[in-house]
Amino acid sequence: MSKSLQAIRGMNDILPEQTPLWRYFEGTVARLLDNYGYKQIRMPIVEFTELFKRSIGEVTDIVEKEMYTFEDRNGDSLTLRPEGTAACVRAVLEHGLTGAGQPQKLWYIGPMFRHERPQKGRYRQFHQIGLEVFNIDGPDIDAELIVLTWRLWGLLGIRDAVKLELNSLGTSESRGRYKVALVEYLSAHLHKLDEDSQRRLKTNPLRVLDTKNADTQAVLVNAPKMADYLDDESRIHFEGLKARLDAAGIPFLINTKLVRGLDYYSKTVFEWVTDKLGAQGTVCAGGRYDGLVEQMGGKPTTGVGFAMGIERLILLLETLEKVPEEISRQVDVYLCAFGEAAELAALALSEKVRDQLPNLRLQVNAGAGSFKSQFKKADKSGALYALILGDDELAQQVIGFKPLRGQGEQQNIAFDALAAHLATCVVQG
Ligand code: ATP
Ligand code: MG
Repeated sequence: MSKSLQAIRGMNDILPEQTPLWRYFEGTVARLLDNYGYKQIRMPIVEFTELFKRSIGEVTDIVEKEMYTFEDRNGDSLTLRPEGTAACVRAVLEHGLTGAGQPQKLWYIGPMFRHERPQKGRYRQFHQIGLEVFNIDGPDIDAELIVLTWRLWGLLGIRDAVKLELNSLGTSESRGRYKVALVEYLSAHLHKLDEDSQRRLKTNPLRVLDTKNADTQAVLVNAPKMADYLDDESRIHFEGLKARLDAAGIPFLINTKLVRGLDYYSKTVFEWVTDKLGAQGTVCAGGRYDGLVEQMGGKPTTGVGFAMGIERLILLLETLEKVPEEISRQVDVYLCAFGEAAELAALALSEKVRDQLPNLRLQVNAGAGSFKSQFKKADKSGALYALILGDDELAQQVIGFKPLRGQGEQQNIAFDALAAHLATCVVQG
């Protein structure tokens, strides 16, 4: 195929054989979030570039090198969103959703765009489900975010494969004091740091903590610890969160090197990680960002949220073979009709059945075909039952009902009794 007819590298089609798993996953999350009282918000995919520069931070990986930025016909600089928080905060401010200190529990789903090196679990268009909570400042809501993800892992059957890592970055004051101490220590060991860390020491020193470089990691062993710099407010908040996770029976690991890639976090940060996906092990990550709304021009408004990577969770479900069998079957009943008169009757009958059983997944054969070819299609559709309508059946106003997966004998059912019969043998979602 010529190059111009291929998808862009790192931007994937989600093919029909994969969409049932995506819909199962997305449906499970949506139901869970409804149950916890979160409301969905939908933002545009493109925003002014300035929004991301101001919220994510100029010296982050995303803004420095990962954004898809272009000029539109008006000469405005626009960017395909690399994450959801910035746009969500923008929308909340623009529509006054957090005015007068009003709490908001919101969630979103959709594609995000980052120009990264594509590999397993890392793409240039990927999908996130994210939550953002505004104007609730206690550790109870931090805990709720974690508790509901823990429940989600339970529903999906992947609890054993993920671990919770937790840290506190403190308030901006305590983080400021810690930064000074860290920079002082690292500067004294400057020649032992890798090149990237030397650069980050000047631009975003906390990011040195999550370096992958072994030499730099060795230097970090004796570096000052954030935990020793937390002020009372941050410490009490963090203790409150830990107590709640203990009460909910959720195991966690304190990782003092966890700083997260984005500039705007404060106090709680967390990641759910798995060792089943190789290098791309973080499936869900988030934290508190109490200063962000104000930084973006709003009144002081606390915030906390997370985003999960759908592709990585789908990969995890597949790797662990936790894909429920029933989701791949998309047809309950397949109707075969032979000849014009039978086709007309089949259409009328099937629409009547749909009136009575709105959730029945009934596929009516299209494109005519011999008995053999229609039967083959019925079998291949995955249907549990075939319905057979030819001239003989039509004359008697009955339809042949044939189990395709070995549950019982073929029988004739009167047209009028068909819906009631199907209701007894097909479990309807
Ligand atoms: P990573 O360290 O893996 O680059 P990140 O810190 O950049 O992740 P976040 O911005 O916190 O990621 O996004 C939240 C989640 O979105 C990640 O934990 C991951 O599951 C998913 N994610 C991020 N970038 C990608 C990507 N390029 N492809 C697929 N999923 C991604
Ligand atoms: Mg990244």
